[in-house]
Amino acid sequence: MTLRCVKCKKDMALVQLPVYEHEKGVPLEKVAAYECQSCHEWAFTEKQIEDVERRTDVAKARRFGFIRKITVSGRSLVVNLPEDLVKHMKLAKGNSVRIVPLDDRHIVLEVG
Ligand SMILES: [Zn+2]
Repeated sequence: MTLRCVKCKKDMALVQLPVYEHEKGVPLEKVAAYECQSCHEWAFTEKQIEDVERRTDVAKARRFGFIRKITVSGRSLVVNLPEDLVKHMKLAKGNSVRIVPLDDRHIVLEVG
């Protein structure tokens, strides 16, 4: 698999970018891409960009994640919010949150 430069129409060479930010503030190291030997523009294959997106998701989850065990209160399952997060988000008892399931592995809490 090789890519052709859209500007120069020349074959691009497989390179490894030392650092690449697909999303601002989420740097990834050693990212595979293709670089034009003439104009030095670079591009990604579909598979490379899928890999970059997956790695970005993992990096974001690790950066912001808190691990909590699900407990039980009455007939409901409960997840406690970490104190640091409560302070940061300025949450208080009685606030409303909307629970939005994204897929079978992710839930978003929307405050207010
Ligand atoms: Zn080029």
